[in-house]
Amino acid sequence: MSISQSSDLTGKLAIVTGSSRGLGRATSIALATRGADIVVTYLSNREEANSVVAEIQALGQKAVALQLDAGDVTSFDGFSTHLKEALANTWSRDSFDFLVNNAGFLRAAPIGKVTEADFDSLCNIHFKGVLFLTQHLLPLISDGGRIVNISSGLTRFAGPGSAAYASMKGAIEVLTRYMAKELGPRGITVNAVAPGAIETDFSGGAVRDNPNINKAVAGATALGRVGVSEDIGLMIASLLTDANRWVTAQRIEVSGGMFL
Ligand code: NDP
Repeated sequence: MSISQSSDLTGKLAIVTGSSRGLGRATSIALATRGADIVVTYLSNREEANSVVAEIQALGQKAVALQLDAGDVTSFDGFSTHLKEALANTWSRDSFDFLVNNAGFLRAAPIGKVTEADFDSLCNIHFKGVLFLTQHLLPLISDGGRIVNISSGLTRFAGPGSAAYASMKGAIEVLTRYMAKELGPRGITVNAVAPGAIETDFSGGAVRDNPNINKAVAGATALGRVGVSEDIGLMIASLLTDANRWVTAQRIEVSGGMFL
């Protein structure tokens, strides 16, 4: 992965939820390559999170890893406390610039079989958690900062088995517009990035590891292949530069032209 504008996010500090693996990891690396420092968060894979921190440090940037259950609203007070300590200790700051609400997982089931437990866990991580984590962190986001909420191509096209998941992502797109409206007076932009199918551990790694699914996705994609996490990380890093300072309240699909 090569990025020519390596310095245009120098001095910026980003929090990327769920950045021990997948899209969050690629986003963190792409941001660090452009000169940003990163607060990495993980749910349980501390070792993976530490390896992302080491990779960011090798790029010459500062990073720390914090544990966060982005689906547990009751943990957000504790997370905010740990975050404030990390900001003070590592950056001598009491604020950060970018929040990327990325953490998530899929529980797939047709509408006839969706359980209430699956619905609640999807709602907690993809919708309720995003609203209340952002609410908790609002006092720490710098005026002129940026928020990116990760949605999904599945809000535009329908994939059987994804009704509950995609509905939460649809809610995030509405929430994105409301956040943009309410935070605009502080100069904060808020956008939703909607990836197509990407080769990560998501959904048991199905898009990456199942040759039939991989081939079907590539065949349904204008650019003729499945997405990789760097496709999303590079786009988000670019969205967070000054070149996109006037972009807010948008749903931006990053799918290589899936199901056109
Ligand atoms: P991965 O499974 O590769 O990575 C998930 C990341 O989220 C990990 O860092 C994981 O931490 C973290 N995580 C999982 N559950 C929680 C939780 N409860 N609280 C905090 N962190 C958590 O997934 P992707 O990178 O593929 O997905 C990232 C986002 O992109 C999700 O919101 C997903 O819905 C969305 N998306 C993904 C697509 C795809 O095809 N991959 C397509 C469209 C959208 P740990 O390592 O500790 O488990």
